[in-house]
Amino acid sequence: MERGRRSNGMLPLLALHAVSEYCRLGWKPPVTAGLLAANTLIYLRQPAFVDSMLPTLHEVLFNPHLILKHRDLKRFLLSAFYHIDESHLVYNMMSLLWKGIQLETSMGSVEFASMVAALLGMSQGITLVLAKSLLFFDYGRAYYQEYAVGFSGVLFAMKVVLNSQSDNYTYIHGLTIPSRYAAWAELVLIQMFVPRVSFLGHLGGILAGILYLRLKALYSGRDPLTTIVSGFSNVLNWPLRVVRNLCGFRQRQISGRRTIGGRHMNTPSIWTCRACTFDNSGWLSVCEMCGTSRDDGLSSVGSSNQSHDLSLEELRLRRVERFGR
Ligand SMILES: [Zn+2]
Repeated sequence: MERGRRSNGMLPLLALHAVSEYCRLGWKPPVTAGLLAANTLIYLRQPAFVDSMLPTLHEVLFNPHLILKHRDLKRFLLSAFYHIDESHLVYNMMSLLWKGIQLETSMGSVEFASMVAALLGMSQGITLVLAKSLLFFDYGRAYYQEYAVGFSGVLFAMKVVLNSQSDNYTYIHGLTIPSRYAAWAELVLIQMFVPRVSFLGHLGGILAGILYLRLKALYSGRDPLTTIVSGFSNVLNWPLRVVRNLCGFRQRQISGRRTIGGRHMNTPSIWTCRACTFDNSGWLSVCEMCGTSRDDGLSSVGSSNQSHDLSLEELRLRRVERFGR
């Protein structure tokens, strides 16, 4: 599509944010960084050779009708890595940054990479099946003809996985809900803020996350996908290992499986904004998206609690102000 996109200054901000976040970390999760870079470069269509290789946005838009008609794998998989505009990209990448750091640090890069691949395939697949099944109902035709792109399906799936072991509670609009169900709250809320987003795509993501956890519980050992990714990364890492051994470097030991949401991690834990459900870094005390304070009214009980709750309209305005839509 168009080269040399106009930036409204959010992309440099995202880059700065991601770099400063990475500098703070003892161990830098490489797969998360790779995903952030890939999504951003695909959006920018840079460097030049990337532009000539990449299909245009219109060739990859996720559309159930076209995917099934032409058995179009390109639309099926690549649509997740394309974004409509800068705010769309930045919102998703901020979300990917926190979730990726948490998940990759806790499960290791190989397992994380295979999980992302699985979640991608499952969320797109489930969305497709949902769209097709809704054809039985009259109103489903709209979903079947819908066009969508973006990484948010995978992000919804990640949110489900991330919160699955959490015993914490999330406070959203005065409601206390177990964090395990935070993704469902986000599904509804984001639909109210931004009606144009793909409801089916997000729902597909949540169901993919649940399916992934179920399948994982069935497998006691390594799943086949992890074994494949592990084999690949061994091959790719081989030259690096030779150099390391020659130079006498010892590979930094990643200390096993830290528990997600545990207190002993050197990564910041995520907290979910109770006003707009955005997942924020533990380093931040104010929500990135709407500016609500992290501890706002949590400790106090009573009427003062309510006054901190933003109305939906107020939230929508703040989001529009921030993201221009
Ligand atoms: Zn917020």
